Amino acid sequence: MSEKQTFEYKAEMKQLLNLIIHSLYTHPEIFLRELISNSSDALNKLRIKMLTDNNVFQKDKELGIWIEFDSKARTFSIEDSGIGMTKEEVVNNLGTIARSGTLEFLEEIKKNKQTSQENLIGQFGVGFYSVFMVTEEVTVETRSWLNDEKGCKWVSKGEGSYTIEDMNKTTRGTKISFKLKDEYKDFAEEYKVKNIIEKYSNFTNFPIYVKNTKVNTISALWHKAEKDISLEEANEFYKYITDDYSEPLGYKHISIDGKVNFKSLVFIPSTAPFDLMRVHTERSLHLYSNKVLIQKDCKDLLPEYLCFVRGVVDTVDLPLNVSREVTQSSPVMENIKNILTREILGLLKNWQEKDIEKYKKFYDNFGRMLATGVNSDFKNKDKIVDLLLFRSTKATDNKGNSVSLKDYVLRMKPSQKEIYYLSGQTEDSIIKNPNLEYFNKNDLEVLLLTDPVEVYIMPFINEYNKHQVKSIDKADIELKPEDKAEKPEDDLAVSLLGKFKVVLNDKVEDVVLSKRLVESPVTLVTSKEGLDPQMEKLMRTMNKDFLGSKKIMEINASHPLVRNLSKRLSDNDKDPIIEKCIVQLFEGAKFLEGSLESSADFIKRMTEIMEQATNK
Ligand code: ADP
Repeated sequence: MSEKQTFEYKAEMKQLLNLIIHSLYTHPEIFLRELISNSSDALNKLRIKMLTDNNVFQKDKELGIWIEFDSKARTFSIEDSGIGMTKEEVVNNLGTIARSGTLEFLEEIKKNKQTSQENLIGQFGVGFYSVFMVTEEVTVETRSWLNDEKGCKWVSKGEGSYTIEDMNKTTRGTKISFKLKDEYKDFAEEYKVKNIIEKYSNFTNFPIYVKNTKVNTISALWHKAEKDISLEEANEFYKYITDDYSEPLGYKHISIDGKVNFKSLVFIPSTAPFDLMRVHTERSLHLYSNKVLIQKDCKDLLPEYLCFVRGVVDTVDLPLNVSREVTQSSPVMENIKNILTREILGLLKNWQEKDIEKYKKFYDNFGRMLATGVNSDFKNKDKIVDLLLFRSTKATDNKGNSVSLKDYVLRMKPSQKEIYYLSGQTEDSIIKNPNLEYFNKNDLEVLLLTDPVEVYIMPFINEYNKHQVKSIDKADIELKPEDKAEKPEDDLAVSLLGKFKVVLNDKVEDVVLSKRLVESPVTLVTSKEGLDPQMEKLMRTMNKDFLGSKKIMEINASHPLVRNLSKRLSDNDKDPIIEKCIVQLFEGAKFLEGSLESSADFIKRMTEIMEQATNK
């Protein structure tokens, strides 16, 4: 038997421990949830092992969790008959941070002072260390499932170092014991322990014994008939599987018998995780086979745009002992995924039709993610498009009013053929865009897009209900002849066009008389082939050298400024103010679009023009 060895924690680990113990957790009772959850994982791993391997130490021992404590001595222990750890595993699992970047992430969380820090911490695989909140020193005794292992003992005071030595442990699994700090002696009271288990661990899939009495109601909730599942039960279950503290927005029970067989409980959370759009989320549905957990967060069960959905899927159709790669590519998996997608989109449609307030809450949190499905799930594209909500010129109140494409089409004017949209950085700036003038004057609704995801997916929608979806700053918008604002195309204006072309030269693709302007003198539009201006901006942020396409400048021949310029031009075509005004109009239009790179010249020129105008 080897000597006791002492190891120093690495500096990063010390910092991490310090952070966990002193700053991150606000509910010390969480330690029990974390330890039970680790035991439950260890039991599950063993159960899966036993499906294919008979050679397990103490293979007939009951799979369970035993909790003991003594309120006088303030001692506490939790033991499981799970998979256990070899000495090497103990060193690897308990002495180091599993995932790189964990420390940085947690520091970040601490800074942000999120209200639900504890939910986030669970995502980083550091739950075990929460025990150091309630104790100074922890002893872990463990014996692996492998027959020829003997057992080992790990003792740590948390912030400095730990020791490890061989021991003769007679039972399989892991026992964690410690003495509670004086201020936490309550955790050695029976009522308290039972309370915590009821709150956090009631659905643990293995019996939990407190002083040899079973306390949890083991229940694979999804196996019940839908009518027998109460809302409270479902919500508690959601909290248990997600570590979320708040109630879900809603859920659906799915039971399918046919080509594939499975049962599922899916939940839509009430708030989005902080990193929803930033990283490919690690969270997803848990996969069970006949109540045995096979894979936590099995991402292959849902398309990426539904990655916010949480819950469980239980199927007996998948062979359990096969590798993840095989499971991934199995047709059973594909079938389940298709059905789940259909059901979840159905649930959302139902909310949209019957409970719009709830649906809007959902959409505020997850709408952007859902929308990405438009270009990734061709089969369900139409259903997803129907679920989209937009702001529009007829829904610009600050109550977050929005319109679906279906509603948009319902209130289209009889003569209107196309669905119009306009994008910009903020709603305020879009509303002031001169390209809207014609549409406002003719009472045509225009969708207002400020989100890059919306801008990105619009070209993929292309057509809705036989109506083309079009950006109104494109040059090829079909303005109906009878709606055309009357524009005198007199010779004067035509010669001014020529002047514009000479002055702006290679800055624009063309200069034309406008059919769409009502109040503004000029505007910039994109040529038929060009990208949406917001899309161009996106491209530019991704690639600094991206030039973008040249715009077409439209001028409003009936605007007083344009008329004045025409007149001046016919009096004296060398008049320097004309050129100055033309450049100023061009840069002003770019400014409105958000694409003017430097405003210094713009301001200087404006000052010169004002000086001239006031010099009487
Ligand atoms: P997480 O459980 O999220 O991975 P923890 O810090 O809680 O992070 O645990 C670290 C690792 O230690 C676990 O991944 C597991 O391998 C091991 N471990 C913890 N508790 C047990 C246990 N009761 N039985 C076996 N292994 C355990």
